[in-house]
Amino acid sequence: MTNGFDPAPQDPLLPVFEQWRTAALAAQSLWVRSLGVAAIAAAAKARFDALVRFARSHSPFYRDAWARLHDGPLELAELPVVTKRALMTSFDDWCTDRSVTRAAIAAFLAQRSHIGERFLGRYIVWTSSGSTGEPGIFVQDGNALAAYDALVSAQLAGPGFAGCDWQVVAKQGGRAALITADTDHFASIASWRRVASGKPWLDMRSFAVTQPVPDIVRALNAYQPAFVSSYPTVLCVLAEEQGAGRLAIRPAALWSGGEGLSARARAEIERVFGCPLLNEYGASECLAIAHGCREGWLHVDADWVILEPVDRQFRPTPPDELSHTVLLTNLANALQPVIRYDLGDSVRVKADRCACGSPLPAIQVEGRSDDVIALRACDGGLQYLVPLALTTVVEDAADVHRFQIVQTASDRLSLRLMDADRAHAGATALAALRAYLDRHGLSNVESALEPDEPQPERRGGKLRQVVGM
Ligand SMILES: [Zn+2]
Repeated sequence: MTNGFDPAPQDPLLPVFEQWRTAALAAQSLWVRSLGVAAIAAAAKARFDALVRFARSHSPFYRDAWARLHDGPLELAELPVVTKRALMTSFDDWCTDRSVTRAAIAAFLAQRSHIGERFLGRYIVWTSSGSTGEPGIFVQDGNALAAYDALVSAQLAGPGFAGCDWQVVAKQGGRAALITADTDHFASIASWRRVASGKPWLDMRSFAVTQPVPDIVRALNAYQPAFVSSYPTVLCVLAEEQGAGRLAIRPAALWSGGEGLSARARAEIERVFGCPLLNEYGASECLAIAHGCREGWLHVDADWVILEPVDRQFRPTPPDELSHTVLLTNLANALQPVIRYDLGDSVRVKADRCACGSPLPAIQVEGRSDDVIALRACDGGLQYLVPLALTTVVEDAADVHRFQIVQTASDRLSLRLMDADRAHAGATALAALRAYLDRHGLSNVESALEPDEPQPERRGGKLRQVVGM
């Protein structure tokens, strides 16, 4: 023990136990949901009561935050709202295992080779940059990981995957591809590597989203995946490539998350690839919050998650109205209890039951809606850059989180940084963007640092990090 964390390898049986737990939880979830709304509410209530009891006795942060509340079972509406800043400031007191400390985790996170490995031999850790400028560190216990996996399994068995051609899956050896940011301990790559290392018989491969699109296309053509998972904007670009004949894969199903997915984009992606696309709404604070249905709604995994759409004063927003923010309670993770957490997304809850027949609440999310940037290359052709790649390049190089990349002409990008960041990080961020453009055959494209700060949207006040023309 030299650098602050326990480097001991994990128990080799741990993934096996987690798989048993996953199978049991998936079966339980399908059963509870088949019983309808009351059974789902009862399952959530039992988990909520257990989580609150546990947090009160094991998390000094919550013990203090709830010190003035009465003894005995607490109701959701009685509990104060928490923010990322408050939790991160009291990190060690927030966690319910005293051996989980911010200092030990920082040492673990400093090494990129640990992405997806177990911290202290049992927990999975990921970070989020978050366009709010508030980086977060999230630690998941075995129960949370099993619950996330169970929710995915429940989707694979559900109507969303009814159009999936399992013969194609078998023919392609079940190969699964993830295209994502893999340069740091982000939730998507960390959980992907965790699953891959726990199930060595599965053929899973991840591809860096920061590579030039032609390189991703070449790699996918060689790999011929049966499943492809990525951000909607990446899948849109891949659909363009497939339509143009440069990409030639035959996936049985696609999976998307991390950004908003419009009905039009989904229809186009499904048409081009000839297979279903399942959309997921998750966050670093809770990997699986809701899953898409054929009617285009997201259904909250309400047996494992409580979502409260609220206004600025944290009062409930009526159905069919867009909320100011949403409070998240993750019922799966007892290690780092996330209870009435201000997530920042705006959601609209469907007032009546969804036509797909699901008993789970249906929502729409006004989430990230960054643009794919189309730039004119030296050779006159159009080169597409996906927002996740652009933001990863800048964040990685300059360690800034609240910024904006704006396309101002077919061959020009502007970078906006916060006043506090411009002097110390401006040159580094711009140099990283320059190198990235050059790697994509876009040395003709100008990039400049703007004197303005990032401009949030007029409506809703959300910050779009990548804005196209
Ligand atoms: Zn539905």
